[in-house]
Amino acid sequence: MTVVKSPSGIDVYIARGQQMVADAEARRETMRNKKFATIAVHGLYGLQEALVNQGSINEPLYLSSAQHFENSDHMEAALAYQMPSWTYSRIANPTLHYLEETLALLEGYGFAGQASCCVTSSGMSAIFLATNPFVGTQGSQRLNIVVSSRCYGGTFMLFSERYEKERGIEVRWVTDPHDLAEWQGLIDEDTRFLFGEMPSNPGLSVFDIEQVARLAHQAGVPLIVDSTVATPALLRPLCLGADIVVHSVSKSMNTGGLAIAGAVISRHQIVSKVGSDELRENFALYLKLLPGRDFGPALSPFSALMVLKDLHTLRSKLDFLSQSCLQVAQFLAQHSGVTAVLYPGLPQDSGHKLAARQMQLVDSADKSGQPEQRYGHLLSFRVKGGAQHARQFFDRLQLIMRATDLGRIKSIATIPAISTHQQQGEAGRKLADIPADLVRLNVGGEDPLDIMQDLEQAL
Ligand SMILES: *Cc1c(COP(=O)(O)O)cnc(C)c1O
Repeated sequence: MTVVKSPSGIDVYIARGQQMVADAEARRETMRNKKFATIAVHGLYGLQEALVNQGSINEPLYLSSAQHFENSDHMEAALAYQMPSWTYSRIANPTLHYLEETLALLEGYGFAGQASCCVTSSGMSAIFLATNPFVGTQGSQRLNIVVSSRCYGGTFMLFSERYEKERGIEVRWVTDPHDLAEWQGLIDEDTRFLFGEMPSNPGLSVFDIEQVARLAHQAGVPLIVDSTVATPALLRPLCLGADIVVHSVSKSMNTGGLAIAGAVISRHQIVSKVGSDELRENFALYLKLLPGRDFGPALSPFSALMVLKDLHTLRSKLDFLSQSCLQVAQFLAQHSGVTAVLYPGLPQDSGHKLAARQMQLVDSADKSGQPEQRYGHLLSFRVKGGAQHARQFFDRLQLIMRATDLGRIKSIATIPAISTHQQQGEAGRKLADIPADLVRLNVGGEDPLDIMQDLEQAL
């Protein structure tokens, strides 16, 4: 006769942990069947969660640095990652959890597989965490990364200064991300990942995620996409074959602009030639529990709550901001004081066709049942008369703010060559195609007529 021993000690907590994992998965499954806007509003914070949080309809803010445990068994199980817990806010925190679950569901919306998220203290720490595990020196000593040169200045500096100059990792810049042959020609057996921004900041250039993911996977490496400017309301790279998505959550997902934050969202079972099974199986969770724990770029719970509150209205905001931006782009395109407008929403833009295939307002349909095309609220343009004229125009703005910022509900302009992309120098700007007369404009929530009036008087 076998005696069934009831679980004791740490096993009680391991069993409880398994139940918690199953409950969370059931709740995720329920939410996966909801529409995008519903997920953005609720995430995993449902009626039951509210009841165990004193009935609070808002996700709770846990500023506490650490979690108190029931006893030593509970503590041991938690610290061994044998049950879900939060332990210490550098590693995890309930408020961060609600943000991570919402972002994973939004970025994984419409994707057949599963996605997970790790939030970080900034967009740059997200990009660092997402790329660093692939550039360890095991195996090849001559490793390289293949990166679209049309990227954010901070990303350019991370790869060129920290990775290339300090660590000897070769950065192979793709100068025309439209050109698949250029991507392909730069990939070899020592390549560790492909990286591109879609669309890029500040040039708004686009690339074919599906085709570039195919090239990456042929080479056995992941495609990492920064889709900060699009947000999952307009573009979900995982659905198009990307392995990992990074975001500056400081930007359009957080139009109020009250926090700096970042996120890495990955599909399960990413493609990679290097790294452990854990890394491949659930990359975002791996980052959260291991490199995130050791490097320590944790997001403040307060910032996470600020972002969550803004995220609830993501879809409708990106819809109306994109419509305003298109109107402003059309106005600038016909203005005699402007020599070029970079905005994929304009039919004459070189990236228009490629963008139209990939960017749509999620869950939308026009009269004929086709999804509504939306291209985001960032555009750039060149001022006639060169850099000096661009500065004069900039200094005359009266409603639009002068700041190195984007994603805001307030209209903001910058001159990338003297701000966001200053430190990469003349040669770096040439590589990234950022002329001195380029103005980047974040179209905010003001009435577009007032935005255009300010542009008109300044031009
Ligand atoms: C701002 C930005 C980043 C960096 O994000 P931070 O939150 O400022 O660290 C990365 N990528 C893009 C496209 C950005 O615009």
